[in-house]
Amino acid sequence: MGARDDGVVKYRADHTTAPLPRINGLAQLDTVRTRLWDLGWLGVYPDGIGYGNVSLRHERDTFVISGSGTGAKRFLEHTDYALVESFDPEANQVVSSGQSVPSSESMTHGAIYRADTTVRCVLHIHHRGWFDRLLSKGWPRTPAEVPYGTPEMSESVAELVRFRSRRPFLFVSAGHEEGLFAFGSTLESTLDLMFATLKGNP
Ligand SMILES: [Zn+2]
Repeated sequence: MGARDDGVVKYRADHTTAPLPRINGLAQLDTVRTRLWDLGWLGVYPDGIGYGNVSLRHERDTFVISGSGTGAKRFLEHTDYALVESFDPEANQVVSSGQSVPSSESMTHGAIYRADTTVRCVLHIHHRGWFDRLLSKGWPRTPAEVPYGTPEMSESVAELVRFRSRRPFLFVSAGHEEGLFAFGSTLESTLDLMFATLKGNP
């Protein structure tokens, strides 16, 4: 499995299969996800490994995130989302519920929500060309030497979020091949930033 792999859960997962509570904004989140899917920025690689994921803050530091193994679907049902109820980057543990297991990228999303309480959504996509282009332009990034899916990754994400005050914000996860993250206080502004940044050809 390569470093771009979103399909393998690297943390200890404590998941309970149970219906999701009512989540405000979940339908809008899925509409945004479908736009990303249509662009090929989220989906499934030819080898069957999914990539990209989206999340929305629920209450306090809890959030809903697209489920693991859902990359092939253009539309998701609420049963394809998971609620991350708590997470501990140092123990590398995620506690969740839902009919789906949360994306393997949950810890990174959680680190962003915890570092900035104004953040309402996180969009994670993969793009080979923009990943390379933004890195060559010196774009904000988490360090390439920090392996994806580790407590160190969560810490470097939290540092970046705290250090960079502009919102919405887009960064490159240099240690996670092809990975870009955007986050902000609304879905619209976060998606707008992504489109404005990834405009034209890389
Ligand atoms: Zn990824």
